[in-house]
Amino acid sequence: MLAKSSTELVRQKNSVLVLTALRRHGPLAHTELSDFTKLSSATISVITTDLERAQIIEKAEQQAASGRGRPRVLFSQRRDCGYLIVVIISSDAVQYSLVDYAGRLIDRFTEERQQNVSGVGSFVTGLRDALNRIVARSRLSRDKVLMISISSKGLVESSEPVLRWSPIFGREQIDFAAVLRDEWSAKVILGNETLLVAAAVGRQEENKKGRDFRALAALSLGHSIGLGVVRRGDEGRLQISAPNFGHMLHLPGGGLCRCGSRGCIEAYAGFYAILRTAFDVPLDTIPAKFVPIAELDKIAASARQGSRRNIHAFRQAGLALGNGLSRVLSLHESMPIAITGPGTRYYDLLVEGISEGLAESHVVRMEGMPELRVVADEPTLVFEGHLNRALAMMDDDIVSSGVVAELNSQTV
Ligand SMILES: [Zn+2]
Repeated sequence: MLAKSSTELVRQKNSVLVLTALRRHGPLAHTELSDFTKLSSATISVITTDLERAQIIEKAEQQAASGRGRPRVLFSQRRDCGYLIVVIISSDAVQYSLVDYAGRLIDRFTEERQQNVSGVGSFVTGLRDALNRIVARSRLSRDKVLMISISSKGLVESSEPVLRWSPIFGREQIDFAAVLRDEWSAKVILGNETLLVAAAVGRQEENKKGRDFRALAALSLGHSIGLGVVRRGDEGRLQISAPNFGHMLHLPGGGLCRCGSRGCIEAYAGFYAILRTAFDVPLDTIPAKFVPIAELDKIAASARQGSRRNIHAFRQAGLALGNGLSRVLSLHESMPIAITGPGTRYYDLLVEGISEGLAESHVVRMEGMPELRVVADEPTLVFEGHLNRALAMMDDDIVSSGVVAELNSQTV
């Protein structure tokens, strides 16, 4: 393969700038593209012509709201340029969504995971079936799907789509690229769920505050505990990480965790841990894989009516979370904390412990209590995080695949 010329690289970079602006702001006119990308009007003309010819973007006329005057010409992504499948694996279900290149949802279904059927083998069979079904329902051929974006809780390999450990499959690893390679030409990516949440909340925050946005942590409460951190890096770009927060040590030799270690934060703050404390179950009892939310609701209701043991169960969970967060702030810097996930329904019972756990640390005594806020709709954030990440990668891949350049050389 020939090395790309520097003009070609500049063109690619500018194409990505244009596509990124369209992702961020929706359909844009020529002058708006020039404003947002800081590229000259002439360059915008060259790039949009290229992208249009390569069938990546299209233009449409929009009549002015008054109905008078010349219609505006707006550029947007071509919806059928390629497709994305989003797979969200949670403790009790797997959700499949088909999305077009413009980011619009075309089809979606959810399959319950049977609690008694575990193991990677049956999960993979179900995954293959469901992926085939979602393209068949929209009469798409598999090769129109450019990317399959998967998320799960747990430990994800940073460079490969390999799930190394998860609350659902334990130490049974899944290499999603290897599992899907024979049927799909699409690129397969995998993300930690809370990392995607953090990315989505961080993006919203950046849209609001612009360059003033520095850092934010997203804490997800539920069967397991997740944390994502978004910070502005040295070059001004947002950097996102998902430290293994739920399995950070809270108490040496403490309660048994689902991961097999003792004393993890999750072993005090996960749903099973709250249940365990509320029922005075010995701390070395192997925790349940899945706790119906109705069970927790009952404990919460009785705590709200004054049951001291149940109040204690939530307070103890809050303390473990607050202590853990204070360590995160000590390692990074003080930052707002967005709390999300099914556990936010018990926020009234957790918040006192969280604040107390935070207040004990030096960083909080010096810099004050970080802002705590509840962001209730976690599933929407997870999906938004998928779209932000996957569509940006699709833009990059399409531009660097040389489709645009090939067309140029044909017309020269
Ligand atoms: Zn653990």
